[in-house]
Formats: sequence, structure tokens, C-alpha cells
Amino acid sequence: MNIINILPDSVANQIAAGEVVDRPAGAVKELLENSMDAGATQIDLVVKDAGRTLIQVVDNGSGMSDTDARLCFERHATSKIHRADDLFAIRTMGFRGEALASIAAIAQVELRTRQHDSELGTAVIIEGSHIVDQHPEATPCGTSIAVKNLFFNVPARRNFLKKDTVEMSHIDEVFRRITLVHYDIGFTLQHNGRILYDLKAGSMLQRIAGLFGDPYKERMYNVEEETDIVKIKGFVSRPEFSRKTRGEQYLFVNGRFIKHPALSAAVEKAYADLLPEHSYPSYFIGLTVDPSRIDVNIHPTKTEVKFVDDHALFAILRSAVKRAIGQFSLATELSFDTPDLFNIGPAPKGVVPQQPKISYNSNYNPFRATPSQTKINLTMPERPERSEKPEEPLVDDTIPHSSPLIPHSSNCIQVQGRYIATPLNSGLAIIDQQRAHERILYDRLTLKLSSSQTIKQSQTLLFPVNCTFSAADAELLAELLPDLKAYGFEIDAAGQCIFIVTATPCGLKDSDLQATFDQLLADYKGSTMQKYSSRSQTLCASLARRMAVKPGTPLSQEEMQQMVADLFACPMAEISPSGKRIITIVKPDEILK
Ligand code: ADP
Ligand code: MG
Repeated sequence: MNIINILPDSVANQIAAGEVVDRPAGAVKELLENSMDAGATQIDLVVKDAGRTLIQVVDNGSGMSDTDARLCFERHATSKIHRADDLFAIRTMGFRGEALASIAAIAQVELRTRQHDSELGTAVIIEGSHIVDQHPEATPCGTSIAVKNLFFNVPARRNFLKKDTVEMSHIDEVFRRITLVHYDIGFTLQHNGRILYDLKAGSMLQRIAGLFGDPYKERMYNVEEETDIVKIKGFVSRPEFSRKTRGEQYLFVNGRFIKHPALSAAVEKAYADLLPEHSYPSYFIGLTVDPSRIDVNIHPTKTEVKFVDDHALFAILRSAVKRAIGQFSLATELSFDTPDLFNIGPAPKGVVPQQPKISYNSNYNPFRATPSQTKINLTMPERPERSEKPEEPLVDDTIPHSSPLIPHSSNCIQVQGRYIATPLNSGLAIIDQQRAHERILYDRLTLKLSSSQTIKQSQTLLFPVNCTFSAADAELLAELLPDLKAYGFEIDAAGQCIFIVTATPCGLKDSDLQATFDQLLADYKGSTMQKYSSRSQTLCASLARRMAVKPGTPLSQEEMQQMVADLFACPMAEISPSGKRIITIVKPDEILK
């Protein structure tokens, strides 16, 4: 008995589709790449319901003949390779002649196309691999492919799709990976009738700004390098604009997005210790190498590559980035306020040169220690270290528990710009101003939330601020929006990954909102604050930390007194929300000593 069947093409195509188009973003990628291969200079992507209902790509590329318009849906139909050898020299995007056949097997596809020298175009309607209709049609030059009801005949895959926000963030990422490299092509992306991006053809930096926001123009250093084995061109973030999460890190090889941990490490290594802990640079770097020096993994959806010249590439990339950062930051350090000083020509005859004026601080006393050199040598009160257990309310009879107990007239002194010293009956209290403020804000924020009477206190920003996030972070932030609004933020999504902030909670003096949200998200992801049980507690703690006055902020007498009073009104005045000691009391006998 024979048991072997030859699968019909439609089934084989469906199976192949699983590899190429596992989700809407996969189809987006293939269609965009085809348009670029066709030489388009403008490509418009229209998406509905995160690609479930519609993915349409309209280009002004070469278009197809009547016959090609039908043939392109056949498996192994490609105009790009003729022999297996061609694979190794390939510089175009797609190259297996599988994408359209796969997409047509799992969707209803409408293709409209016209070549530039044809008067009339052609329309092909195809559904589950079967051509339903083809007829001549007046269409613009170029190609429009509309993919409707993806996976309509593969319920298993359809059910496997994630929430729209997730699928859309995948599409967004695909869109970025492609548009970042092809900045010489204009792109638009429209989702459910809303234009998310309108990217004009231009420079790479303009493209970065178009995708991630205008501020990026000022945040980047240019990296450029050309050697025998590689040409490098791109941008890296200035160290001070590093982010708390590995967000915008894009490496491209010969116009393709790749993931290459060693090369990424090369970039990060170049920053050495210029970055604060747990901060990561953003970068957009394109490498051009001889295709024969790449071990091409010809699977079209994979992003891994191997280089023959691995080590050399690593070293070249690192030094190129290093030079970009070093060179430029040195240049800014050398920009003196008084550049004229260096352009003194020879003195005219007969003029007696004046002694140069030196400005100095006449109050400077080298024997007076600067803040960083001084250490307050306070003996800690002899009680056990409690900072690890913030949950337990700490009762300490040396500390009054409500504000009236602190006479408002009692004087405060700010020490080293970071501690407040104030006399108590029980001794001298040394209060860490940042931690104290953190505690006060945290208690206020949590109170506001629990007493559901969200007394929103917002300050409207003079200029709305755009913040940008990676797809994953954007999604997370979208989930947190209701909480953030309850705290007093006015923040709304403005693009797939862009949020506009129009108001912030009163008291948030921080001008760097991007950093605030990055920190908030980083904290929320649980890296630093696992101690907090609930999401709102985590957010409150993170926000409080962000809003608290920083060391080095001078405080007025009034502000200090207010802070001390507010602090002592908190039930857990001794311990900051992140579990650190806020107050130390120097007892009278210690003062005596
Ligand atoms: P591949 O891109 O690997 O060749 P595809 O299935 O993606 O395979 O496309 C098949 C063929 O259809 C391409 O080789 C190309 O000739 C043609 N084609 C696809 N999309 C377009 C387009 N937007 N404009 C012009 N021709 C296209
Ligand atoms: Mg293709």
C-alpha cells in the first residue's frame, strides 16, 4: 500500500508561509523589501487593526507586467536570482521568491500594478493561493499590494496573534529597522487612519529624528570610518543621553538590520566608563562589507550573521566609536569662554604690553575643606541597622510623630548641600534631605491613590515634551498611563512609540522627562525595587525618588523647616521608601564628647 502524497501547492505554500510570515510584521517586512527592490522612492504603508484586517503597501517602483503580476505569486517566482551562486552576491532584500506565494496562501490579496511604459495597469485578486480575478485597470505607476484578513484560512495562527498593541509594536520595529537604513526613500505609516510617521527622504540624522523625535538631532555624535574591510557610517548617542534600558540600538550590515552581540559589545565598550551604571547608549550604525566576507544566513527572517573578519571588525568599530565620542567631547571641553585670548597678534610698536588680568576667588582658602573632602564624623546611634526592613513601622521615641512637635521657629542648617541639621529635645537631628523628601512625596502619592479622591495637582508645561520609547517600553507605558494620569501627568500616545507630555505633577522640577520615564519603566520592570509588592507602590516610589530634591540643591530656611515638619508627620519618618536611613540623631552625650 502506498502512503506517500504529494502536497498540493496551496498546502505547501501555507506551510512555507509559517516561516516567512509568522505574524503581520513578517508580511510588512517582505512587502516593504519588495518595494525597495523595485526601486521605489516613496513607499506608503497602511495598516488596520495591527495588520489583522489590512496591510497595504503602495510604491512608485518599477511595477510589473501583466504576466509577472500573476507569476509573482508562484512559489520560487523571483526576478532576483537565476543560479544558486547568485545567492552569495545578493545585495537585494528578498531573494527566495517565496514571500508573495506565502502571503497569497494565507490571505486575500489584491495587487494593482503598472509599469512606467504601460498605459494601463493590471489588477490581480488572489485568495488562498487561487487567482480569483485578473483584469486591466487604470492604476498609478508602481505597485499596490493589499493583504486582507491575514490567516483567514489558518485559524491556529490567527488565534496565536497577540494583542493589537503587541502586533503593532512588531510592525513598528520592522518599519524602523527598514526606514533607518533607507533614509533616501520617503516612507509613511498609517494605522487605523492615523499617520504615525511621515518620513521624507533625507539624511540619516533626519531619519533618526523623524523616527525618534527631533531632540535626537542634538543627542548624537557622527561615527565614520573607512578601512579595507569595512565602511562604517552612523550615529551614537552622547554619553549624557544614555538610557536606562537598551532601547535604540541598531546595527545594520549592507542595509540589513542584524543582531550581533559581539559588535554591540564593541560599541558599548567604546564608552568605557563614560556611562553611569545601568545606562546604555543609543546607536544607529551601518556597516558595509564585501558580501563574500559574510557567512550569509540565507533565511530571510533571521537577523544573525557571521563575519569572516570578526576580530578586526570588532576592533575597528570600537575605535571608531571611541574616537567619535572622545574627539567630540574633547572639542566641547576646549571651547573656552574667552577665545579672543588666544588670538593676540603682535603688539603694535611703542605699546607696553599690559599684564594679563587673572581673575581669582579672593575668598578661597585652601585649608578649608571642600564639600567632597569633608566627612561628617558622626557616631551612629547604637541601635541595630533597620534599613533592610521598611515594611515595619519604626517607632522611635526620640522622634516626634507629628509636625506640631517641631517648633516652627527651630532653626535648620543645611550641611554640605545635602543634610539638614536641626536641634531636637533629644539631640541634634541630621536629616538626609533627598531621602526625607522622597519619603514625604511617597506618602503623599500613595495616599492620593488609596483615597481614590485623586486630587490631581498638575502643572501644565509651557512646551509639550515628546518622549520616545522602544516598542516594548511604549507598550508598558501605555499600560501605566491611567496610573500616571492619577499622579498628575498629562501624557498621551502620539505615535506608536512617541508620547506627548503636556503636564506633570506639581513638584516635579525635573526637566528631563525622558529620563524620568526611562527610570520609571526601569524600576517598574522590577530591576531595582523588587521589595515593593504592588505596581502602584513601585510607581510611587520611583516617582518620589525622581521628584525628590537632589544633593547639592540649596534650601531656604523656610523650605527646610517645612520639610522637617512634613517629614515628622510621616508615620515612617526614619526610613526612605527604598529602605535607607533618613535621620540620625546625635545624642547630647555625643555632642558633649
Ligand atoms: P523575491 O522578492 O524573493 O523575488 P517575492 O515573492 O517577494 O520574491 O517577489 C516575487 C517577485 O515579484 C519579485 O522577484 C519581483 O520581481 C516581483 N515583485 C514583488 N513585489 C514587487 C513590487 N512591489 N514591485 C515590483 N515587482 C515586485
Ligand atoms: Mg521579496
